[in-house]
Amino acid sequence: MKVVVVGGGFGGARVAKSLQGRCDVTLVDTKPCFEYTPALPELIVNPGKEIQIPHREYLTEGRLVVGRARVFHDHVRMNGERLDFDALVVATGAGPKRGGMAVKCREDVWKLVEELGEEVAVAGGGYVGVEVAAGLAEIGKKVRLIHSRERLLHTLPERASGLAERFLRAQGVEVVLGERADVKRCVSCTGTVPNTACIKGRLRKALDEKGFVRVDGHLRVRGFENIFAVGDVTDIREDKSAQNAFLHASVASRNILALERRAPPREYRSRERATLVSLGSKNGIFAYRGLAFGGRIPAVMKKAVEWKVRLALRG
Ligand SMILES: Cc1cc2nc3c(=O)[nH]c(=O)nc-3n(C[C@H](O)[C@H](O)[C@H](O)COP(=O)(O)OP(=O)(O)OC[C@H]3O[C@@H](n4cnc5c(N)ncnc54)[C@H](O)[C@@H]3O)c2cc1C
Repeated sequence: MKVVVVGGGFGGARVAKSLQGRCDVTLVDTKPCFEYTPALPELIVNPGKEIQIPHREYLTEGRLVVGRARVFHDHVRMNGERLDFDALVVATGAGPKRGGMAVKCREDVWKLVEELGEEVAVAGGGYVGVEVAAGLAEIGKKVRLIHSRERLLHTLPERASGLAERFLRAQGVEVVLGERADVKRCVSCTGTVPNTACIKGRLRKALDEKGFVRVDGHLRVRGFENIFAVGDVTDIREDKSAQNAFLHASVASRNILALERRAPPREYRSRERATLVSLGSKNGIFAYRGLAFGGRIPAVMKKAVEWKVRLALRG
């Protein structure tokens, strides 16, 4: 069975890795490597940290094509080449909203650290904004963190918000709540938009009004039996996170194999999952179902998760 996977992040890399050897897999990505994005804020403190894994290291039995794809309902187009498929996985993720300095890849962080002055404004107090502000404070920047909500980490339990705010204030960060920042002048951590400009033709009908790909409970793109979508690009109402993208990938891979065997597909069950937020290089917050605690243990847990993901791809 010919499977084309577009996007080599958490979702796409895992699908490609699990189907290689069992299907004829082609992975298309804009970069020649997988990037461990949850470690981007850590890169502020430790710019030399290795966060990339070349796709070739784990994709030993599949084909890799590097470039930007255009995705149609019956083929994928790349650098003038046409890739046909029996099954397609859309895993193009989401990118930063327009305006401001983005923190989406290794080069963004390097540029940020190089170009920033002594005083920095960070827009958005979700987990990315909190992690970036903590990293910048650790390297000695005078940071102002502006969040439009009444508390930081507003999707997590209140206790987590309190822990984050107290930690940041103790590091000298000015925390401004209930105000909107002028994002153009800030490091922008205000959320993402789906990378679906590459979706063309009939497949565009599967996009919702915000540009997310509509999927059913089996992660099939609405209206198509053999096209799946995983990760941040989907319209699933849950946290857009690496761990969710990884779990989608596991369901989509099984469903592609089920498609070949004409077996019933598995269902993806979305639920609340534990969250780890880093606060600089040595501290963090763990939050799950109303429970939250901070300190060094969550920082160690976050490193353990990174190690587990690396093992899942390389092992
Ligand atoms: C700073 C930061 C910190 C984060 N921290 C955490 C964390 O602690 N925990 C957590 O769970 N999540 C975290 N996240 C979120 C996590 O990174 C995303 O949820 C996850 O990467 C989503 O995986 P994905 O596979 O959907 O997309 P991505 O990992 O974004 O991968 C998408 C891939 O598709 C490629 N692509 C896009 N368009 C095309 C095209 N047309 N052709 C070919 N390739 C294309 C992109 O280049 C990219 O390689 C963080 C994100 C950021 C930015």
